[in-house]
Amino acid sequence: MGNVLEAKREVGNMRPQPWCPPVEPSPAEAAVMRRVKKAKLFVFLRERRHEIFDEGFQKELGTRLYGESRRGHPPVPPAKLALATILQAYTGASDEEALEAMVMDRRWQLVLGCLDAEEPPFSKSTLVAFRKRLIEHEMDRRLVERTVEIAARTPRSFGHKALRAALDSSPLWGAGRVEDTYNLLGHALKKALGVIARQQGRGLAEVAREAGASLLCGTSLKAALDLDWDDPGERARALVGVLDALGAVEEYLDGGIGEQKAKPAGIETARRVRDQDVEEGSVEGVPVLRRGVARERLVSVEDPHMRHGRKSGSVRFSGYKRHVLRDLDTELVRAVGVTPANAPEASVTESIARDLTRQEVHLQELHIDRAYLSSELVRERPPELEVYCKAWRVTNGERFPKTEFALDWERSLMRCPAGAVMPFEAGGVVRFPKKTCARCPLRERCTKSRSGGRSVSVHPDERLLEELRERQRTSAGRKKLRERVGVEHSLAHIGHWQGDRARYRGVRKNLFDLRRSAVVHNLHVIARTIPADERKATAA
Ligand code: SF4
Repeated sequence: MGNVLEAKREVGNMRPQPWCPPVEPSPAEAAVMRRVKKAKLFVFLRERRHEIFDEGFQKELGTRLYGESRRGHPPVPPAKLALATILQAYTGASDEEALEAMVMDRRWQLVLGCLDAEEPPFSKSTLVAFRKRLIEHEMDRRLVERTVEIAARTPRSFGHKALRAALDSSPLWGAGRVEDTYNLLGHALKKALGVIARQQGRGLAEVAREAGASLLCGTSLKAALDLDWDDPGERARALVGVLDALGAVEEYLDGGIGEQKAKPAGIETARRVRDQDVEEGSVEGVPVLRRGVARERLVSVEDPHMRHGRKSGSVRFSGYKRHVLRDLDTELVRAVGVTPANAPEASVTESIARDLTRQEVHLQELHIDRAYLSSELVRERPPELEVYCKAWRVTNGERFPKTEFALDWERSLMRCPAGAVMPFEAGGVVRFPKKTCARCPLRERCTKSRSGGRSVSVHPDERLLEELRERQRTSAGRKKLRERVGVEHSLAHIGHWQGDRARYRGVRKNLFDLRRSAVVHNLHVIARTIPADERKATAA
């Protein structure tokens, strides 16, 4: 009953009261803390919850998440809900499991201040609504920032303004089921008809038959087709059958279904799958599956943001990439990002840069792999930012590679190995004169061209590439490059809590999940840095 009241109040958009739990553990809490041997974050959160969620931060959460108070006060302070959200990331608990843990697990009760409670301190709907608000108001990012603020107050101060950071990504397999074209079409059409069936209070099979798409009546499209899938002829017939079903459903919906005006979203999904995957074959009017993969190919009906991507040249995955920016001096994760698996790495840096601006730090060193080299963060970098990245190997068979051509940046001149000089510009191609190359004694070692001169292309960011190659030649430079390994450790830690498979569907919810995993990572870093006895002294 209490939870029902609480859920109703949640809807009323009211601002909560701050939570002021006792700082000193009670004897019962101290006993629980002593018994925790492995999952030490529970103990750390009990010791530091009043500092992480101090009055100022609780007020900020209340104002940002709940706006101005209109009537009454909801009973659940955001600090408690945020702690539960962090514990969910730490333990991998679903909403139901979290609610159960609040009454069954004394470690959860320790953190949430409800030891021996027989009812959870809030309902599942309150937890879900809180998560939604966190996402809507970008307050999940604020939780990451809060860990950075807490770290800056510790005895080993983390408050650097000039940041040395490394950025890297790892695959996050999507939560939606990946299907082939036949099943994508069947699944989307079933969803469309399912909406009509629910609205009319009828069965899906009945509506599918009425629409002239009996193929969709069963539980499995492929079972309904009942074909030999090794036979190309039968596969072609299957495609025609599924497209006919799509045509029938389109006609059925065009005919108007009772009061229904808007078409169910599933029909748009089915059309999109048809347009991306099907084309006319060599025989006029006969559809065939398109060869290759369309760039923005939909791979899952349930999660339309998922895409096919590559982990390496040979390993493919479907879902997302998670990007993590690690502070190389403190090990804290400062910012994270999620992109569909097919998006270039460079596309994430705009949001990462925004997150850093909010933290009032500026990048002094950026350690990246080559996939991020084309990012705006690198292209538009200020002069003080040093980029560390392994340069591409420059080769040209047995002939002079372009690195043998010296660049004079002051005068924009390129000098070839034989001493001929030509003007150059970044992003352009330098063509040495035919006549000069024709009489050059080094010609055989320089160009294959019988009649023309040697050409050398200059990358738009050639100056940076030259710097990278130069650094790689020295032992100190190679040592610097090895610093990037740290971000791989952070990615592995975060992957340990977040898992390799997404918990949610869609980019934004998975970004939320990544951010709360980054919070868990950062809290571990802080806890590791401060010995237990010092923690109390700092908190006092
Ligand atoms: S072939 Fe032309 S570009 Fe090459 S070294 Fe000789 S003069 Fe220079």
